[in-house]
Amino acid sequence: MTPNNPLLVEWKTPYGLPPFGEVRAGHFVPAFDVALAQHNTEIERIAAQSQAPSFDNTIAAFDAGGRLLARIGHLFHNLCSSETSPELQAVERAMAPRLAAHHSAIYLNDRLFGRVDELHARRESLGLAPEAQRLLERVHLDFVLAGARLSAADKQRFAAIVERLAELQTAFSQNVLHDESNWALWLTEERDLAGLPPFVRMSARQAAQQRGRPDAWAITLSRSLVVPFLIFSDRRDLREQAFTAWMSRGEHAGEHDNRPIAREILALRREQASLMGYGTYADYALVDRMAETPAAVARLLEQVWTPAKKRAAEERDALAALAASRGEPTSIEPWDWRYYAEKVRQVRYAVDDAAVKPYFALERIVDAAFDCAQRLFGLTFILRPEIAAYHPDVKVYEVRGRGDHVIGVFLHDNFARPTKRGGAWMSSYRLQSRIAGDVLPIIVNNNNFAKGAPGEPTLLSLDDALTLFHEFGHGLHGLLSQVTFESLSGTQVLRDFVELPSQIFENWLLEPDVLRRHARHVETGAPMPDELIARLEQARRFNQGFETVEYTACALVDMALHASAAEDIDITEFEREELKRLGMPREIVMRHRLPHFLHLFASSGYAAGYYVYMWAEVLDADGYNAFLEAGNPFDPAVAERLQRYVYSAGNTLEPSAAFRAFRGRDPKVEPMLSKRGLAETSASA
Ligand SMILES: [Zn+2]
Repeated sequence: MTPNNPLLVEWKTPYGLPPFGEVRAGHFVPAFDVALAQHNTEIERIAAQSQAPSFDNTIAAFDAGGRLLARIGHLFHNLCSSETSPELQAVERAMAPRLAAHHSAIYLNDRLFGRVDELHARRESLGLAPEAQRLLERVHLDFVLAGARLSAADKQRFAAIVERLAELQTAFSQNVLHDESNWALWLTEERDLAGLPPFVRMSARQAAQQRGRPDAWAITLSRSLVVPFLIFSDRRDLREQAFTAWMSRGEHAGEHDNRPIAREILALRREQASLMGYGTYADYALVDRMAETPAAVARLLEQVWTPAKKRAAEERDALAALAASRGEPTSIEPWDWRYYAEKVRQVRYAVDDAAVKPYFALERIVDAAFDCAQRLFGLTFILRPEIAAYHPDVKVYEVRGRGDHVIGVFLHDNFARPTKRGGAWMSSYRLQSRIAGDVLPIIVNNNNFAKGAPGEPTLLSLDDALTLFHEFGHGLHGLLSQVTFESLSGTQVLRDFVELPSQIFENWLLEPDVLRRHARHVETGAPMPDELIARLEQARRFNQGFETVEYTACALVDMALHASAAEDIDITEFEREELKRLGMPREIVMRHRLPHFLHLFASSGYAAGYYVYMWAEVLDADGYNAFLEAGNPFDPAVAERLQRYVYSAGNTLEPSAAFRAFRGRDPKVEPMLSKRGLAETSASA
C-alpha cells in the first residue's frame, strides 16, 4: 500500500466518508492499480481453491470481494459526475476501458463460473435461506448474461466489445457535457429579456457571472435555465435559437460529434446480442427485466401512444387559438409550445410558475421531503454542517431510524454548476450490507437547480420540486435497505422496478396536507392558500398530451432502435424515419433526441430500457392508490408494507412478487392512464 495515497489508507473520517479534501485526480490511477490487483487476487483465491464449491466459499466470498475497488470506484464516478475537471476527465478516459476489461475478465473466468454453475445446478438441495438463494440465482444470471457460457474465441470478442463500448460511452457523455458547457445565449439589453420573470433574470445573471460577464445575462443549456426561458421569453427569435441549440447537442460535425459514436455503439450491441444467441439487442436486454419481452413493453406503450397523440392535438389547437387571440402566428413551432402552454395554463387555472415559486423555497421543499420520510418510515435527517463534502454547496446529513439509531448518511447536492453534468440523479458512496458487520449506506442526491442570487433564496418550480422528491425516493431506497449481501442492496434491482420507489414518492409532494405544512410563502411565511392547492391539483393533468408524447416517443424510438436488425444505423436518419412512421406531431420534439440521449448511449443500463419510467408509473400509480383506498396518505399499515417489500428489500425479492406482497395483487394499468388524463374518451384539459 502507498501510505501517501489517501485512497489506499483507512478513512478515519466521520461515518467513513471519503476524505474529500485530500483527494486529487492524480491519486486515482495508482489507487485503481492497487485495488484492481487486490480484487484479482481475491477472485483467484475463490477460483483456484481446492475445496469443493459451497455457497460460503464461492458466492458469499464473491459478493464480499472487491470492496477497495468499489470504495474508490464509487468516489471516482461520483466526482466525475458532480465535480469534474479536465484532469478527472482524462483519468475517466483512461480508466473506463480498463475497468470494463476487469469486469469482463471476472465474468469470463472459466474456473470461477464452473463453481458458480455447479452450485446453481444443485441450488434446491443446498438448504439456503431465501436471500442466499436469490443471490446465487442473481450471480449465476449475471455470469450467463456477461457471456460465461460462450466459446473461448467468442468470449474474447465479447470482452473486446465491452471494453470498446466503455470507451465510446464515456466519449458520448463527455461530448454532451462539452456542448452544454460551451454554448450560451447572451442577452445584453432589456428587450432581450422581454417576458422573463425576476427569477429567470436572476438565474441568467448568475450564469453570466460564472462565465465572466457580470454585465450580461446568459441562457445556458441546463434544463433548469433553458426550460424557463422557453416558457417565458416573449422573443420568438431567441426562443428558436435557444431551442435549436438545446436540441442539437451532440449533433455538430467535428471532434465532439456523437453520431459516429452512437453508430458504432449500436453495431457493437447488435454483435453482442448475436454472440449471445439473441435476434436483437432488445431481446437480450429484456431477459433481466420485469417486463421480460419487447412485446410486453410494446403492449404498454401502445395503450398510451394513440390517446396521447390525440390529446396533444387538442392541446395544440388550444395553443393556436390563444396565439390567434393575441394576433400572433398560429403555426405552433416546437419552440412555441411551452410558451403558449404557459399562457393557456394561466388562463385556465390561473396557476403559473411565478405564482407557485414563492411557496417553493428549496429549504422548505427539502423539509417537506424529510418530513414525509419521517411520517412514513420514521426517519430523521440531522444536518452536520461541520462535515465538508466535495463542494461547499453539498449538505451532509446523518439519518436516524425508529429507535434513534443511525441508519446512514445522506449528501444533498442541489445546485447547477459548470463542473456538474446535467439532469438529476441518485448515487451511492457506500452500499448497505450486513455480511461483514453492519455497513451503513452513504447516499447522494444530485439536482441541477439554478441557485438564487447571493443572499436570495432558491425558488423551485413545481417540476423542480417533483424532481427533488423523485431523487429523494431513490435516496430512501438506498438508505432504507436492509439486506445481508451487498450485491442485492438498495437500488440494485431490475431496471423496470427501480423507478417505483422514486416515482411513488412524488405523490406526497402534492398532498394538500403536505403543501399546507411546508409550502409557505418565502416573504410572509403564509401557507399556500387552499384555493391555489386545488388549482395545482387540477393543473396536473394540463399539457399531459405533450408530456406523454415527448416521453413515449423516446421510449418507442429506443425500442425500435435496439430491436432493429439493420447492419449500420445512421441515428439521425433512423430517428427521422421512425418518428414519421409513428406519426409524431410536428410541433413536439423527443424529450431526448438520439445524439444526446445519455440514457441510451452514456451507459448500457437504459438501452432498450427508456420505457422503464412508464412501466414503473403503472406500479407507482396503482401502488399509491393503496394509500388512497386506506383513506390516509400516511396510513401506517400500508407504509409498513411499502417499506418492507419495496424500500428495504433491495433485490432480495423477485419484483413481481415484491409488488404483490405490498399491494396484495398484481398491478393494474388504469390508475396510470387516469392520472395522465388519458383514460377518458375526450377531455378539455
Ligand atoms: Zn429516477
